[in-house]
Amino acid sequence: MERLQKVLANAGIASRRKSEEIILAGRVEVNEKIINTLGVKVNPDEDIIKVDGRPIKSESKIYVLFHKPKGVISSVKDPQGRQIVTDYLKKVKQRVYPVGRLDYDTEGLLLLTNDGEFSNLMTHPKHHIEKTYFVTVKGVPHGSQLDRLKEGIELDDGKTAPAEVEYHDVNPDKNESVISITIHEGKNRQVRRMFEALSIQVKRLKRVQFGFLNLQGVSRGKFRYLQTSEVKELK
Ligand code: URA
Repeated sequence: MERLQKVLANAGIASRRKSEEIILAGRVEVNEKIINTLGVKVNPDEDIIKVDGRPIKSESKIYVLFHKPKGVISSVKDPQGRQIVTDYLKKVKQRVYPVGRLDYDTEGLLLLTNDGEFSNLMTHPKHHIEKTYFVTVKGVPHGSQLDRLKEGIELDDGKTAPAEVEYHDVNPDKNESVISITIHEGKNRQVRRMFEALSIQVKRLKRVQFGFLNLQGVSRGKFRYLQTSEVKELK
């Protein structure tokens, strides 16, 4: 037996937390009876579970590695009608959700999946997945500024953990440089806020690596499916 919200999340209905809201809103039936409290356990193979009157079926789990362009929302809906990540994933039949998020203006590697458990695991700070970003900045930051980024920066919501930081490319002709930073936390707008705290102007932000995964072979706006072995290795 498994908790109802977990079964809904595993079936790709929504994240576990959203599934709880769906239950509390009285939208879920188990064997023809509305369940609107949390804590009910069900047998996903035997019980007939419906959301808004439609039976859920456990879908096969899929994992998508997407190269998000800048100017796209990491969300499956946008009330303002801006471009959303799933606009690029029309060929993916299952309903998938982003694993964490990238800002509207950030490009790069974003995973999406219908596996709620995997998503929770990947975004949990304890799991320590390393994420590497290339940050194009104005000018050439001083070595002492990179040291401060490495040691951790005091932000409104706490100090950032030690990070790996190095010069990736320095281009004095264009008065810009690219700094590579690897973090394993996922505070909101973390990288931008770390650089802002040192008054370094960020011109472009790109996530190039998530764990051992990178963007090789996946051009901007395109995606590929992860292999089972890659999913296992991430866990
Ligand atoms: N840090 C940011 O500031 N933005 C992102 O999109 C990801 C990490």
